[in-house]
Amino acid sequence: MRCHIIDALPQVGGQLSEVYPQKPIYDIPGYPAINALDLVNKLVEQITPFNPGYTLGERVDLLERLSDGSFVLITNYQTSIHCRAVVIAGGLGCFEPRKPPITGLENFEGKGVSYMIRNPEKLRGRKVLLAGGGDSALDWAVILSELAERVVLVHRGDTFRGAPETAGKVFALAAAGQLDLLLNANVVALHGNGHLQSAEILTHDGQTVKLTTEHFVPLFGLSPKLGPLEHWGLNINKSAITVNPEDFSTNQPGIYAIGDINTYPGKLKLILSGFHEAALMAQSAFKYMYPHERLSFKYTTVYGINSF
Ligand SMILES: Cc1cc2nc3c(=O)[nH]c(=O)nc-3n(C[C@H](O)[C@H](O)[C@H](O)COP(=O)(O)OP(=O)(O)OC[C@H]3O[C@@H](n4cnc5c(N)ncnc54)[C@H](O)[C@@H]3O)c2cc1C
Repeated sequence: MRCHIIDALPQVGGQLSEVYPQKPIYDIPGYPAINALDLVNKLVEQITPFNPGYTLGERVDLLERLSDGSFVLITNYQTSIHCRAVVIAGGLGCFEPRKPPITGLENFEGKGVSYMIRNPEKLRGRKVLLAGGGDSALDWAVILSELAERVVLVHRGDTFRGAPETAGKVFALAAAGQLDLLLNANVVALHGNGHLQSAEILTHDGQTVKLTTEHFVPLFGLSPKLGPLEHWGLNINKSAITVNPEDFSTNQPGIYAIGDINTYPGKLKLILSGFHEAALMAQSAFKYMYPHERLSFKYTTVYGINSF
């Protein structure tokens, strides 16, 4: 089967490239630890012999079924791709960061305020203010505690939603004086002349403290906006596409959904689960496209990748 990849982002890799390229990942079989971007690069290297096509930086807006059952996908740049099966691996959709309600926040975007950390090296030796209570905030607090001059993590609650083990590390780092943790607190105002210079924090006892900081990273997650996918006649439950977990097919024949975008009993939003789902989906998509050919399942070592 020939494949063509379309992504609204200018690069492949989804959340790994866009949200946490330098974060280590510890749950990929065969790699005790691997940085997200390294994993993406290795996956690209691995698929290169199969010669997939790429359309990057374009969002699929329309999906139309033709009378012969095949599909045409049309992007916001009017690129059209004709295919016989569609695999939606749209993750959280076209994701937008959730922004905290701080007056004037937008004025400092790109001037000290960012909603994701693409290159932690840029924060080496800097004063960084993080806000949030999920995995992202915890992971980055731990990583930046080794790089930044000072890290302050502000969280509006006193317990974290993120992994308990990472939360434990954050509490330990705070106890050792390697980061500042402000619980039951909120960032309420930002100040600066062009670039961010300081932030005001409302602390748990109702005091407002002013903190000198050049970087503020609110990490309140990404709001799941399915965007155009919502209008493709698929069964959707809580912003995810309902699939048959036998082969990850949707209610529309020939359309599959894998990765974070799908939902079924027992779903885990993990990279590993996406790999598993892709393998079963590919078997089913082949049978859908070539109903009269017998699919003899073999490992790539049986055929050798050069035969593709
Ligand atoms: C901070 C953080 C840390 C994480 N750490 C781990 C970890 O350590 N281990 C682990 O297993 N998992 C981790 N995850 C989860 C993991 O990143 C996801 O499970 C994985 O990225 C899902 O991959 P995906 O391909 O389904 O979706 P995504 O990675 O979200 O990719 C979806 C892509 O679809 C594109 N898209 C959406 N709609 C359209 C459209 N209409 N047209 C064109 N393109 C579109 C988007 O631009 C995006 O690039 C983490 C997640 C986060 C946020």
